[in-house]
Amino acid sequence: MKSICYALIIVLIQLPILRASANVLPTIYVTVSSQAYIVNQVAGEKNVRVKVLVGPNSSPEAYFPTPKEIYQLSTATIFFSIGLPFEKIIIDKLRNNLKKLKVVDMADNIKHRKFKSKLKHHHHHHHGSHSGSEHLFDPHVWLSPLNVKTMALNTYTQLTKLLPNKQKILKHNLETFLKKLDEIYLKQKSLFRPFQGSTILVFHPAYGYFSDLYNLQQESIEIEGKVATAKQLLTITKMVKDKKIKALYVEPMLDKKMVQNIAKILGLSVVIVNPIPYNLLEGLESMGQTFYKGLSKQ
Ligand SMILES: [Zn+2]
Repeated sequence: MKSICYALIIVLIQLPILRASANVLPTIYVTVSSQAYIVNQVAGEKNVRVKVLVGPNSSPEAYFPTPKEIYQLSTATIFFSIGLPFEKIIIDKLRNNLKKLKVVDMADNIKHRKFKSKLKHHHHHHHGSHSGSEHLFDPHVWLSPLNVKTMALNTYTQLTKLLPNKQKILKHNLETFLKKLDEIYLKQKSLFRPFQGSTILVFHPAYGYFSDLYNLQQESIEIEGKVATAKQLLTITKMVKDKKIKALYVEPMLDKKMVQNIAKILGLSVVIVNPIPYNLLEGLESMGQTFYKGLSKQ
């Protein structure tokens, strides 16, 4: 009797442990929250656990992970990078420790654009430890529905390897997501058709892929990672007049006072646009509506 009791106790103790280990989902790290949305769309929210490195109040260009975050990342299953300079630094750091973690570039097969401007300035993502031409490449690939399709395909390729018994659902999820992205693209393509070559003036130059896709021209207040100089602001003032620009598109996390001052100098109204929306479908959609409204007034 005694031994049966012991056996029962052992079974009872082990039950929750067994149940818990069956619930352990593979952890997937991404750099920005828009990528988390892509993973969740393809995987379905209950098949993986997605963690985002760059929090909602930090800028990807200024972010660097803490040692604790780097350790947690190293214990994950997949890290979908996006092409920001800090990623390369931590991947190099982790190189000797990458037994389990698989690092995958979610932007693979996307042709990176370089920062370009009619105002003849370059935008650099300011990272002191980095030099050379990679600074000129625009990392904001997720703000184009066609790029997001490529990112979703790259995600799908990895997830089918990770979750081989979920092939069917993954394929279904992917196709549903791609269809929605196509719908947004076609809708926006006709929305912006009357505005070919028109300029949108933004604070941080995050909308280059979006602008390129619909033949718009992005100009920015931030030049080489810094606010434009007085001389550069004069050039921008002239452009604002010439092109009858009415709005300045600004990220929610920027310093409001500084933004208001510049908008006042330029005679523009401040319009908030989030360049890193979690829900990319809604984010791209509302971004399109916002730019369309602004262009309609120009
Ligand atoms: Zn940025």
